[in-house]
Amino acid sequence: MSLIFHKSVPGRRGIKPPRPDVPKAEPLESQYQRRQEPALCEISELDAVRHFTELSNRNFGVDSGFYPLGSCTMKYNPKVLEKIAGFKGFSELHPLLPQLRQGGMLVQGALQIIHELESMLCRLTGLSGCTLQPMAGAHGELTGMMIIAAYHRDRGNQKDVVLIPDEAHGTNPSSASIAGYKTEPVATDKETGMLDLQELENKISDRTAAVMLTNPNTLGIFNQHVQKVTEIAHRFDAQVYYDGANFNAVMGRFRPGDAGFDVVHVNLHKTFATPHGCGGPGAGPVTVADHLVPFLPISRVVRRKDNTFTLNYNYPKSIGYIAPFYGNFAVCLKACAYIMMLGEEGLREVSDHAVLNANYLMNHLKKLYELPYDRTCMHEFVLSARKLQNEHDVRAVDVAKGLIDQGYHPPTVYFPLIVAEAMMIEPTETESKETLDEFIEAMRRIAEKAAKDPDSLHQAPTTTSVGRPDEVKAAREMDLACLTD
Ligand SMILES: *Cc1c(COP(=O)(O)O)cnc(C)c1O
Repeated sequence: MSLIFHKSVPGRRGIKPPRPDVPKAEPLESQYQRRQEPALCEISELDAVRHFTELSNRNFGVDSGFYPLGSCTMKYNPKVLEKIAGFKGFSELHPLLPQLRQGGMLVQGALQIIHELESMLCRLTGLSGCTLQPMAGAHGELTGMMIIAAYHRDRGNQKDVVLIPDEAHGTNPSSASIAGYKTEPVATDKETGMLDLQELENKISDRTAAVMLTNPNTLGIFNQHVQKVTEIAHRFDAQVYYDGANFNAVMGRFRPGDAGFDVVHVNLHKTFATPHGCGGPGAGPVTVADHLVPFLPISRVVRRKDNTFTLNYNYPKSIGYIAPFYGNFAVCLKACAYIMMLGEEGLREVSDHAVLNANYLMNHLKKLYELPYDRTCMHEFVLSARKLQNEHDVRAVDVAKGLIDQGYHPPTVYFPLIVAEAMMIEPTETESKETLDEFIEAMRRIAEKAAKDPDSLHQAPTTTSVGRPDEVKAAREMDLACLTD
């Protein structure tokens, strides 16, 4: 299809704004004025509607099909929550409205939502203080690492290293490094798929500021020895960070605080009812143990004796603001409504079904594909296409592209890095058994193709408007417009 700019006809109009009824403003000083006309297209309203409708039909989302993207939790989010996020009493609030007195009653509801969601997240993670400000998982990690750094500074600790398992999400080392730390990987045990405790013991020292752990890890395996990890770390006054981006694996079943973790972030846009992709908006709230509460970002919402809510800025040890105002409030609002809608028992069921669905898929697919860590999984699991590659020259990317032709979004591929030709599959709790069965059949057809006609998979996808791009060329010479010729 052509770009909207190619459909532009000089002089054609979509809308005609009314004549201005205010005096013309003084023009900006010439240095601020643009030198060329902006490159805008001229198109009728109908042609614009058709253009964007056609584009949207080419998109793939959870609302159009199964999207088993490991680690990213692309699950269905109830539409009623979008409606709640759109309530005028919230969506039209200005963040600078007064908290009390004139107009103060307008913001009391929003402050209460913040306060209550913070308490609910503390309860779910087993910790005592929370901030909703971070606007993504990685942003939550950075916030958590800054809190840990502030704690060590406050104690006069000289520490400069953060230990991170080799299977961790790439954001973990990035966040630790932006917070000023050197990072060192800790190996995963090849048998169990869990952190190698012996290597942790060998690497940890007085210089260790923190250990960052994801549990279940990116192989989808729950580490039963986490309490050991937190004990080892605490002997050195190292703080233990829990990456809870995929909290839908353990809600109501496991609280990181109970196992000794000091800091947790959760991704509201994976677990708590905000659809995501393409960069947001999201939220990565952080909860912390008692001894880290003084370092949380300001401002903090507090409940007064008369049950009104207000913002408090008086936390001298705080790391300060980490986002403008209160973070992505609408995302927090949806999470709050989602948690209240399901309740504690409902959230536990969410996790139980996420785990059940993943194990159901895993046990069928391991008959067709290699499963390097063959253990009960949590919300996701990782297959490998290494055998297919050796036997038929079919790689994980070929399986992924083949799935597109079968009407599915591909799983995450080539992550985690410790599995060759990795295919990381997360069905999520919202999918039915029928959908999972159909997906198993699609994966079976691809495995058969790989054996009989591998070249057809090298050509895939053939049913989309753009076929297989040359990935190196696409990365080196980014020319998005050339696709339309
Ligand atoms: C998604 C994810 C993150 C990062 O979250 P963003 O919101 O994308 O920044 C971190 N860790 C894990 C395990 C994740 O799955």
